Amino acid sequence: MMESQTETRTAAVQRQSEEVLMPNYRRAAVAFARGEGVRLYDLEGRVYLDFVGGIAVSSLGHAHPRLVRAIQEQAARLLHVSNLYLIPEQTELAQWLTSRSGLDRAFFCNSGAEANEAAIKLARRFHYTRGTGRYEIIVAEHAFHGRTLATLAATPVAKYQEGFSPLPEGFRVVPFNDPGALVAAVNERTGAIMLEPVQGEAGVFPATAEFLAAARALCDAHRLLLIFDEVQTGIGRTGTLFAFQGSGVKPDVITLAKGLGGGVPIGAVLARAAVAEVFQPGAHGSTFGGNPLACAAALAVVQTVEEENLAAHAAAMGEILQAGLRELGHHAGAITAVRGRGLLVGADLDREAAPLVDACRARGLLVNGVQPRTLRLAPPLIVSAAEIREALAILEHALADVRRASLRGGEGQ
Ligand SMILES: *Cc1c(COP(=O)(O)O)cnc(C)c1O
Repeated sequence: MMESQTETRTAAVQRQSEEVLMPNYRRAAVAFARGEGVRLYDLEGRVYLDFVGGIAVSSLGHAHPRLVRAIQEQAARLLHVSNLYLIPEQTELAQWLTSRSGLDRAFFCNSGAEANEAAIKLARRFHYTRGTGRYEIIVAEHAFHGRTLATLAATPVAKYQEGFSPLPEGFRVVPFNDPGALVAAVNERTGAIMLEPVQGEAGVFPATAEFLAAARALCDAHRLLLIFDEVQTGIGRTGTLFAFQGSGVKPDVITLAKGLGGGVPIGAVLARAAVAEVFQPGAHGSTFGGNPLACAAALAVVQTVEEENLAAHAAAMGEILQAGLRELGHHAGAITAVRGRGLLVGADLDREAAPLVDACRARGLLVNGVQPRTLRLAPPLIVSAAEIREALAILEHALADVRRASLRGGEGQ
């Protein structure tokens, strides 16, 4: 039989993808045809529980009726006009975000990196406008702020920065969760401190209350801007609408993206009025930023999150997920530490994550190996307790699978 007749659709997509796509992603050999709620269905008809959530993006799960309707209705009315004109959907989204965050003004873009890029520019312009000579931004070790050159410069991780120098100057790195180091790092050039309330890509490490309080106190004392990168934590994921609301510290600037559009690309920067006003006409912009389609989608997401109390639900479900992972670690081993906030959960393993991620997928559970020995779980905020129990049961079987495989591997040597 000819190979083309036996090749699965998935294998064909994989082969063709390698021919035409840049090889910058390490992709699993699975392609999804559709989704519903927390479940995804692949091209071969297999079903998966999605505990990756498109990397903390699919906050309402897949094909949520209200989000689908908002997108369909907006697409039929108007997709895009540019920021040369008023955009009612953008204004309504900004009203929601500012009133719920307690910040005053919003700027919209299309991704997390763009939101952070805008926040960096905002901080520089703020000090330029005041003539303070302050331009440096303090960031934390293991931070992830994006892949553009400036946000990469703010991401002090060798594997991301390698081969891209020269990077823009003006970033200073301190150890995460070390208040003393933060105090020692501030000098006459410091203009802002940029932090993730929970470091997601690093392996889901929440900032301590002491660290965030020290950052706030330093910013108050020296008139610096405190920027929270809530690209991964924002819009209910950590158990409050914004992670800062669970931290006791209010920033001057927040960046958002991932969960905001529920899968439709959108980013946002929120800031106090006195900060926002340095973006005078012409200072910054984005052609697509805040277009009617993206804003109508994000409005449907944020209104659903609020009306259905999904932040509180994420807090409750996160407890169940963390407790279940700890319990699994106690009686089955392999899981050595569990941490997180709400439905942003990390689990350290006593072994490589990749074989376990593959074993989970083979059994119908999607999880993400965010670090070589750390799993990240970020299911849609609508996940139920029953779905969490189902995921934990699959994870337990998958752990047994990788154990058996490693025993066999050991015998073979
Ligand atoms: C994902 C992420 C980014 C980058 O977002 P993109 O949309 O991929 O550009 C920035 N900061 C944090 C905390 C993130 O998790």
